[in-house]
Amino acid sequence: MAIMRYADIVLPLAQPLYTFAVEEGRTLCEGMAVAVPFGRSKIYTGIVWRLHDRKPERGTVKNVGRTLYPEPLLDERQRALWEWIADYYLCTLGEIMRAALPSLMKPSGCGEEEFAADEFRPARERFAALAGEALEAEGRAALLERLQRRAPRQREALEELAALAPDGEKVPRGVLRADSAALAALARKGLVALGEREAAAPAARCGESFPLPPLSPAQQRALEEIDTGFGTRRALLLHGATGSGKTEIYMHLIARTLARGGQALLLVPEIALTAQLVDRLRAVFADRVVVYHSRLTDRRRTETYLRLRRSAGGELIVGARSAIFLPMNRPELIVVDEEHDASYKQNEPAPRYNARDCAVMAARLVGCRTLLGSATPSLESYLNALGGKYGRVVLDERYGGSLPPQILVSDTLRAVKRGERRTHFNKLLLDRMAETLAGGGQAMLFQNRRGFAPYVECRECGWTARCPRCNVSLTLHKGDGRMVCHYCGHTEAIPEKCPRCRVTEPAPMGFGTEKIEQEIARHFPEARIERLDRDSATSEGAFRRIVETFARGDADILVGTQMITKGFDFGGVELVGVLNADNLLNDPDFRSAERAFQLLTQVAGRAGRRRTPGTVVIQTAEPEHPVLRQVVAGDYEAMARCQLAERKTFFYPPYARLVRLTLHHRDPVLVRRAANTLAALLRERFGRRVLGPAAPPVDRIRGEYLAVVLLKIEAGASFGRARTLLRELLARMHDDPANREYKSVTIRCNVDPQ
Ligand code: ADP
Ligand code: ZN
Ligand code: ZN
Repeated sequence: MAIMRYADIVLPLAQPLYTFAVEEGRTLCEGMAVAVPFGRSKIYTGIVWRLHDRKPERGTVKNVGRTLYPEPLLDERQRALWEWIADYYLCTLGEIMRAALPSLMKPSGCGEEEFAADEFRPARERFAALAGEALEAEGRAALLERLQRRAPRQREALEELAALAPDGEKVPRGVLRADSAALAALARKGLVALGEREAAAPAARCGESFPLPPLSPAQQRALEEIDTGFGTRRALLLHGATGSGKTEIYMHLIARTLARGGQALLLVPEIALTAQLVDRLRAVFADRVVVYHSRLTDRRRTETYLRLRRSAGGELIVGARSAIFLPMNRPELIVVDEEHDASYKQNEPAPRYNARDCAVMAARLVGCRTLLGSATPSLESYLNALGGKYGRVVLDERYGGSLPPQILVSDTLRAVKRGERRTHFNKLLLDRMAETLAGGGQAMLFQNRRGFAPYVECRECGWTARCPRCNVSLTLHKGDGRMVCHYCGHTEAIPEKCPRCRVTEPAPMGFGTEKIEQEIARHFPEARIERLDRDSATSEGAFRRIVETFARGDADILVGTQMITKGFDFGGVELVGVLNADNLLNDPDFRSAERAFQLLTQVAGRAGRRRTPGTVVIQTAEPEHPVLRQVVAGDYEAMARCQLAERKTFFYPPYARLVRLTLHHRDPVLVRRAANTLAALLRERFGRRVLGPAAPPVDRIRGEYLAVVLLKIEAGASFGRARTLLRELLARMHDDPANREYKSVTIRCNVDPQ
């Protein structure tokens, strides 16, 4: 057998693998974390990717430093997934390492001492165990007798320990009722051993039963279809209406998985928005629920990662997209809830992966099953289901026979003409609000812009306030009275006089959630109002407080952005108002119609989730818009047919794959030239599949100018070959001496951009 003397190691950098030497006699295996010297006397955490015996051609090879964890951090399945992501999303393994491992697990770029100080130390647990004389049954009896009179507390402690672990097994101190003084006294006599060890992972408990809600006949049928479907397919789409009780079906599938000692992963779009869901899952699965997302402390995430690494199975992991990187030793089921949600895709920074698609891939790599759930599936998944790549299960009955909401489209222009518009509300919406509130019901108002006013304009000369570093207008926030850039965070005060014509004070135009909150308070001074958006939900605690206040019925109206649309189950909501559907419908993106349908259907789904059917009022200037008609009819198929036909004609996903190449530089002329060169280079090989260069809608961010080149590869062609070619061309763009002037231009690749 060859002696493996070299290790190719992944460092948490946007760089290729580096080769280090392995000293003789050292045992390393793939997936292990090691400390390695890199750069000028800096230490990095690295992952051993490959072991081999080929000496690198150039340079001196440094030795691998010490091993950081006793077991490999990545198993084979995870390494296969990383490889796939790096290949598919055109990124480096190092970039994946940055996203996949909590930072505490990978101190990097520091000196030896700092590295040692930063290194993760697992929590330790104190234990007690019988020792000496107390280990033998006979000796113990005599001891207990003797202690009976002189030290009853010690006797109790000894008795408790003997009952739990008669053969001297270690018992965590947390489990014992005995007090420390008694245990310490026994330890001094040599009858008990006290010590510390690394906290052990709880063992899998098989055959456990959970307090599951019984399913309705329709849910039961769906569950059976899922079972049949998984017999022949790895991935299934559960197309279930809002309020049909998809969560309960997930619970049944999960319970069976856990009872076998298997593990289930439930991915949710944004975990902070799903506190309610986690509560529901905890009520059934108790301490089997493991939550993982980026808002947890790094320490918690590290502990969770290591605990799962060592687990023997039996957990339900609930997490946001990054949970796809967690180790699973007994993976059996992955559920992707609200699979259409754009937040599964990480757009910035690399790896620009879509956790939903990774979940489907992961199932193939390990042989587990993936269930994609949604009331409004993405057209990609829908087409995959129609084409037989995924199985499809439909559940269109709402649970408990609650009726779908009545959706009313309210024409804003007509309301203005008839004098039936008050501030940003049509009379229809105000009337319904009044009825709802008078009857003790709750209402939700949706506006997809936060802040007070999306722009500030001079009525005299048309000047608008713009960010000095980004090509966007500034949004006025009333709370602090300042204008804010939503791209870079730049803020400034609203000018007293228009800086251009100096005639008047510029005025706030348009409306965001803050303004709606203020206006609705004027219309209904008695109502208790809460607002949910990124400005009010600044922390998880603030978020929870708002959601719980509303859920308890301690608020009558909830105003919010997209945040209020996601998966909430508020029983008292009878009315949902959409203040302005037009900016959803008129977004220039090719997905805007699909997105508008999904969003409006989801918002509408918040109304009337109990017996009384809810009402939804959608305000728009285009009441005849086909998407609105599809939303009103609740006709997903009509939307899908219509949009798929368009996508086919114009050659967009799911009929083509897109790769978006974005060039960044401070010099607008240089970025333009580089984009032209890149587009020409790509055209040599890809021909008409190359579009652009073009300026994106926001063509300057944080002082950098942007240009975009788009690559469209038809669904039938080999995307793997296209990526190989693209990689070669990008390398040429970078290495060709003729392109030296573009060295400082950054090119970012986004595969399947959302
Ligand atoms: P979805 O996620 O499909 O929109 P939910 O899972 O939130 O729907 O279910 C809607 C409501 O119906 C929730 O309040 C849920 O608790 C209730 N529900 C659904 N199925 C059941 C069931 N089998 N038993 C009891 N309650 C159920
Ligand atoms: Zn002016
Ligand atoms: Zn800005």
